[in-house]
Amino acid sequence: MASNVLNRYLFEDLSVRGELVQLDEAYQRIISSKDYPAPLQKLLGELLVSTTLLTATLKFEGSITLQLQGDGPVSLVVINGDNEQKVRGVARYEGDIADDANIHDMMGKGYLVITIDPKKGERYQGIVGLEGDSLAEILEGYFANSEQLKTRLWLRTGDQDGKAHAAGMLIQVMPDGTGKPEDFEHLEQLTETVKDEELFTLEANELLYRLYNQEQVRLFEPQPVEFHCGCSRDRSGSAIVTIDRTEINDILAEVGSISLHCDYCGTTYTFDEAQVSELFREAGSGNNTLH
Ligand SMILES: [Zn+2]
Repeated sequence: MASNVLNRYLFEDLSVRGELVQLDEAYQRIISSKDYPAPLQKLLGELLVSTTLLTATLKFEGSITLQLQGDGPVSLVVINGDNEQKVRGVARYEGDIADDANIHDMMGKGYLVITIDPKKGERYQGIVGLEGDSLAEILEGYFANSEQLKTRLWLRTGDQDGKAHAAGMLIQVMPDGTGKPEDFEHLEQLTETVKDEELFTLEANELLYRLYNQEQVRLFEPQPVEFHCGCSRDRSGSAIVTIDRTEINDILAEVGSISLHCDYCGTTYTFDEAQVSELFREAGSGNNTLH
């Protein structure tokens, strides 16, 4: 069974590229971190698949963050992935969410923020309104407007053999503009026929053969996708020393320690008074007096 893998492929004769991502563990890890209602689990899965499909286009070291923000019961859904396909994600919600809630019911008035953060070079941020019936349509609009590239996405989540799966496909015209619109439409129609069960269970070569057996498809080396949270005790320490020392001292006086909680993976990093002093000493704040 195909799982936690990203495949890229190419229709050389038609100037169209494609991607296929199939996730189970990485998805299960993200949705199990909190008690998310079913429609929100689905939205997290769709955003996770989208992020993975987008990071596949990264030609440099860095990360992509997709954030849905809104004024509905769900205020934030965020997925972060990097060029090594390490992914993490979290959502914030309040109140009841109906079993049949769609993206608009959950997010209310909102937008999608796409942040591309290269390790070297400048950060790019794109913001798009939630126009469309689904996350796939919203992203298709983003590609059409910002990159002027005809793109289609299929995002699916569901249970297969008692396990939660998230999977998806993307096809996009090559930026060189040599592709014909009718070829793209033909591939759209073929991809549209993909069934959830095929997406959740078939290996890439078999799935692509079922969909496109009349076409010449070049399939590249698959890339594994895994859940990974980049948080650490060191990073938490670095965050603490950016907070005003008086504020830190107040918390220490009250509770005796400083704790930082990572929403992505559930880890809590706790620093006692002596450790906090050490952090500030290392950071060279010059003021090492606690009280
Ligand atoms: Zn973490």
